[in-house]
Amino acid sequence: MNAEIISVGTELLLGQVVNTDTAIVARALSALGINLLYSAVVGDNAERLKTAVETAITRSDLLIMTGGLGPTADDLTKETTAAAAGRKLKLHEDSLRRIQTYFNEKHVSENQEKQAWLPEGCTVLQNDNGTAPGCAFQAENGCTVIMLPGPPSELAPMLENYAVPYLKKSVNSVIVSHNVHIYGRGEAPVAQMMDDLMDGENPTLAPYAKEGECYLRVTAKAADEQQADEMCAPVIEEIRNRLGEFVYGIDVESLEALVVKELLQQGKKLATAESCTGGLLAKRITDISGSSAVFDMGCVTYANEAKEALLYVPHEILEAHGAVSEETARAMAEGIVRRSGSDLGIGITGIAGPDGGTEQKPVGLIYIALSDGSQTWVVKRSPIGRTKNREWHRHCAASQALDM
Ligand code: ATP
Ligand code: MG
Repeated sequence: MNAEIISVGTELLLGQVVNTDTAIVARALSALGINLLYSAVVGDNAERLKTAVETAITRSDLLIMTGGLGPTADDLTKETTAAAAGRKLKLHEDSLRRIQTYFNEKHVSENQEKQAWLPEGCTVLQNDNGTAPGCAFQAENGCTVIMLPGPPSELAPMLENYAVPYLKKSVNSVIVSHNVHIYGRGEAPVAQMMDDLMDGENPTLAPYAKEGECYLRVTAKAADEQQADEMCAPVIEEIRNRLGEFVYGIDVESLEALVVKELLQQGKKLATAESCTGGLLAKRITDISGSSAVFDMGCVTYANEAKEALLYVPHEILEAHGAVSEETARAMAEGIVRRSGSDLGIGITGIAGPDGGTEQKPVGLIYIALSDGSQTWVVKRSPIGRTKNREWHRHCAASQALDM
């Protein structure tokens, strides 16, 4: 079954609202084993919407529309789509009564009543979180059309509770994806290493990069979830063999979530000493619920004096090597272990930019140290490319610390 999505709303084209509806619908379709081939955004314009719907229903088996079901004049999805699909609208008494109950009155305005007019013969998808019902029907040419309201808080439950069960009756396969999380190897070299594996048709393998990390998505289509999982397993195994410790997890939430989980399992505590990341590492760790059991404290020591006073960084080290140096990072990690009594300490010092770099110490040069009180490891992050983006360097340094 081939599907497409049309999201309706001028606010989406203006960039005022991010199109999360499409992502929600796309994930549901993927889980159902339905191939999504196109996704479009159209403004609140009847003419252009009509053209888009006509194109969609002639080339796809399933069209999902989002938005424009509401009471206002710019909500045109139903009348336009129904007309393009060769269907008339009819007042749906049950939906009208639901709207009357919602507003607690017998006579709702014409605008509100408009929401109860639905394509003749459709299956009504009840809206448990708003007034505009959704619907599912067959276009004249046989294409299945589903209309869902725009607000994600209404769309998501309607999709899950009513539209997905409706679709399940007509599909007999599932698509399952697993994400292999990789740190320390970029998308391009990873893709090269997996070149031969990427030729497969089922399962498929696709690399993608996000916020300094790289992922390999393994996707299989099968009759049920277990069978799809079994098809993915050998590919994941092979990726692990090739990438070794660069793979840090499968389907994990994030690096920080994994770190908190590992620390919990090992019964260890962590403390952080940050300079250029300004507390970002501590923030990312404490974003994870349950981190209070493993995170002791974090010091943001920007000034040299603070590094000396709070972290016992020797004055001589700062004078001889500077604040941005392997020696200082090491002393910070060891110092925070001593200060906090934690099992593990992290020290981060570097130049986040965009200003302040020199030839010897360019923007992006960051040292990250990890100490367990007896041993200390240091990683030097050299500027990759020539980006001077402060947020990027800070984010990558925190990720590097989590990876260590
Ligand atoms: P309402 O009854 O609230 O008017 P509707 O079905 O008519 O619902 P729209 O008028 O198109 O939906 O959009 C209402 C609001 O829903 C938008 O202002 C926006 O905040 C949100 N919304 C609409 N479409 C999307 C989308 N594709 N992704 C995320 N949010 C959306
Ligand atoms: Mg609306």
